[in-house]
Amino acid sequence: MILSNPKGTQDFLPPYGDQKALVENEFRKVVSLYGFSEIVNPTFEHTELYLRSTGLTTDIVTKQMYTFTDKGNRELALRPEGTPGVVRAVLQNKLKLPVRLFYIGPMFRYERPQKGRYREFFQLGVEVIGESEPETDVEIIEMGMRFFNQINLSDLIVKVNSVGCPICRPKFRVQLRLFLDKNLEQICDDCKIRVEQNPMRVFDCKVEKCKEIYHDAPKISDNLCYDCQNHFQAVLKELNERKIPFELDKMMVRGLDYYTRTAFEFVPTGSSELGSQDSVGGGGRYDNLVEDFGGPKTPAIGFALGLDRILICLGNALTSRKLVYIIALDAQALKQGRQLLDTLRNAEIPALINPPDKNLRAALGIADNLSCEYVIIIGANEMQKKVYTLKNLTQRSQQEIPQDKIVEVLSKK
Ligand code: AMP
Repeated sequence: MILSNPKGTQDFLPPYGDQKALVENEFRKVVSLYGFSEIVNPTFEHTELYLRSTGLTTDIVTKQMYTFTDKGNRELALRPEGTPGVVRAVLQNKLKLPVRLFYIGPMFRYERPQKGRYREFFQLGVEVIGESEPETDVEIIEMGMRFFNQINLSDLIVKVNSVGCPICRPKFRVQLRLFLDKNLEQICDDCKIRVEQNPMRVFDCKVEKCKEIYHDAPKISDNLCYDCQNHFQAVLKELNERKIPFELDKMMVRGLDYYTRTAFEFVPTGSSELGSQDSVGGGGRYDNLVEDFGGPKTPAIGFALGLDRILICLGNALTSRKLVYIIALDAQALKQGRQLLDTLRNAEIPALINPPDKNLRAALGIADNLSCEYVIIIGANEMQKKVYTLKNLTQRSQQEIPQDKIVEVLSKK
């Protein structure tokens, strides 16, 4: 029997499993304020879907995809990202446009695992399909920031850039290629390949020397066509007007082939727990993807947030466990305790009762292991006085509460 989990995967042990669910629920709440509905797609799709969208020159597709042939000889891939599956489902099911969808679920990439980088990881994503206005771009950036504020992760900045469109990019690529050819000797081997396959991708390089060189390279956001330029200026103006903390980052091009115009990343400021894995989310417009899939010309924009990285940044900040542990000391008290268990649960107070064969010390030990904040003790004394002994395990205090007041007292805590 193999006793360890596969490399690059994680078990979300308590309390992190609960924390993950809390973050997911906050996300659901925030995006529903902006009219998003949940979509649940398969975790695997035809490999071709990703080849035709995420892109033939992206690391995600060329190096990181988990692909397999099934028993019916179909070429399939575990999804490395959410957008292609969502767009496929919208087209296949002829959903009415515009549509606002969100998803939560695991993604798979064969990466070199490190803190904040896994082979199975979870994303919280949104897609707006059928809206072209710059206001939509800013609205969803603002929505992302609202979500981060909601979970108390407010030390964040949005990096923004425009990556142009198929009208402005070819001209720019020639210009960039000239610059790169001049510097070919000095750039890393990976970048030499990028120059051949997709020169703009050099800006994704993490090698310091390369980054220095690319500072002086021509930038796409300085070389936009008229329409892209107008769109980008409108986005920047709106971001300023809404006082969203952003930084124009001309080097940020984002790693996927289908992005057009606005591209952005949410990056923690200050001393982040993440180390070199700095972005907690990113997104952008993809105004041609629907058409590339054979649909009508349809503008679209989305983002995906990394849930694993969000949890790392939060630490224990969101853990809230209000479990009450009832300890009944004899058979009669146990009967009373079971009724109380129902009463508490009906009042939406999470509660458990100790097994009948445990003595007080052993039962308190269990309550401690479960990180319960409160214990209710019921023994002969309590039964006679019609009270419960309420013990606060964190403050190490206790008091007697009349039986008919217990729900009221605990609800206020
Ligand atoms: P991407 O889909 O590459 O644009 O990534 C969007 C977000 O997903 C990133 O900002 C990360 O927070 C998260 N992410 C991407 N790849 C990984 C990974 N291998 N492990 C954990 N989180 C990831």
